[in-house]
Amino acid sequence: MIDLNGKRALVTGGSRGIGAAIALALAENGADVAFTYQRSAEKAEAVARSIESAGRRAVVIQADSADPEAIARSVSEAVAALGGLDILVNSAAIGLSGTIADIDVNEYQTLMDINVRAPVLFAKAVIPHLAEGGRIISIGSGLGERVPFPGVTAYAMSKAALTSFTRGLSRELGPNGVTVNLVQPGSTDTDANPADGASAEFQRSLTSLGRFGEPHEVASAVVFLASPTASVITGAILTAGGGALA
Ligand code: NDP
Repeated sequence: MIDLNGKRALVTGGSRGIGAAIALALAENGADVAFTYQRSAEKAEAVARSIESAGRRAVVIQADSADPEAIARSVSEAVAALGGLDILVNSAAIGLSGTIADIDVNEYQTLMDINVRAPVLFAKAVIPHLAEGGRIISIGSGLGERVPFPGVTAYAMSKAALTSFTRGLSRELGPNGVTVNLVQPGSTDTDANPADGASAEFQRSLTSLGRFGEPHEVASAVVFLASPTASVITGAILTAGGGALA
């Protein structure tokens, strides 16, 4: 039984795709939800309306995850609007394709700022607000564990970093009764990786189920880990990828 009534969540990158599904699923299970976005203001407002239709409070925060000041402001705004925070979900991320031989150093740095530094800075800012029962959940990728084709090395590196982040932070926050976990989606049908995209058929061939996941299927794993039901699970890596790592 999932019950998030009274919980207050902050989701990064909640305007589209997996982050939007997570924000809505948390609300449908009882949480009030603040979420960040970067560019998609209209889509962010639509997600907020869906959260409110579920009877929960929605707080929309425009903030670039590459900007440390924007991260600190996001957490302050979420805490002020919701009266505190119980759950942080790090979902915002960007991709970067191309080989290491051809990589642009500035694009590499931006990737690492958004995909690695931002989850660290969000956690750093949220930790002082988390009481016993608090949750930090990050969205990694199956590519963080296994890289079955070339051209995604830097992105895979950025997601692999979240494994150590999750395990180490679970050690640091365990004494406070706060759990820290990682959900690794596999190919999931979003703007970033559409199920009818150029490499979709190849990606399907890597899975056991023979299909892409849907954002709400990844969100279900996050909702479970966010709930009191998952109270003893911490430092865990949960793959939600249709068997791509099987
Ligand atoms: P999308 O590109 O569809 O959505 C990305 C979301 O992150 C948007 O809400 C976007 O906001 C936000 N975002 C991007 N950059 C920033 C930024 N600099 N600051 C703030 N917000 C930002 O991605 P997905 O839904 O596909 O991916 C979500 C997560 O799942 C990511 O961590 C991704 O790495 C991971 N993942 C996805 C897989 C897939 O197959 N889809 C597979 C494995 C992992 P805005 O709309 O305003 O730009």
